[in-house]
Amino acid sequence: MTTITLVQGDITRESVDAIVNAANSSLLGGGGVDGAVHRRGGPAILAECRRLRASHYGKGLPTGRAVATTAGDLDARWVIHTVGPVYQESGGDPALLASCYRESLRVADELGARTVAFPAISTGVYRWPMDDAARIAVETVRHTPTAVEEVRFVLFDDRAYEAFSRRLG
Ligand code: ADP
Repeated sequence: MTTITLVQGDITRESVDAIVNAANSSLLGGGGVDGAVHRRGGPAILAECRRLRASHYGKGLPTGRAVATTAGDLDARWVIHTVGPVYQESGGDPALLASCYRESLRVADELGARTVAFPAISTGVYRWPMDDAARIAVETVRHTPTAVEEVRFVLFDDRAYEAFSRRLG
């Protein structure tokens, strides 16, 4: 049984086995969660992302996929980088957004992570409507078989926190 918990705040302050980063396909950093992860996590994360890019993802990490690195100076063992879909480009099809959660949990299982923190993937610069993103996130986590014991959604603002709480019931 996976317990789902909600927290309002900055995901880079969480103490968990794995922190999920709402990355972009370049794996070279960006704004939002990505910027905060690299700022607080320090250069070791970017160095590993660069190596992964060179060895496996020359064309970028595809949307909906996930890959792990060290968590650097964060209070976690790993960062799992996943690339959310841009709402406009996806036409609102939930498949790729659901895939981000599923693939991140698959990677977490491979690593042996028991506690995993997720942001509200794609709801920032990728502009997925918050209520719909919350529905997809919660339903996908509920329906994905995993050994992860706690999935913690870490929501940055009131609007995100309320959308996820409504969904969790
Ligand atoms: P995306 O590119 O997938 O849309 P963003 O990082 O732009 O990703 O935003 C995803 C969500 O994460 C947004 O709801 C944003 O408000 C939120 N967010 C931004 N910074 C943080 C943070 N430090 N911790 C948790 N959530 C954050």
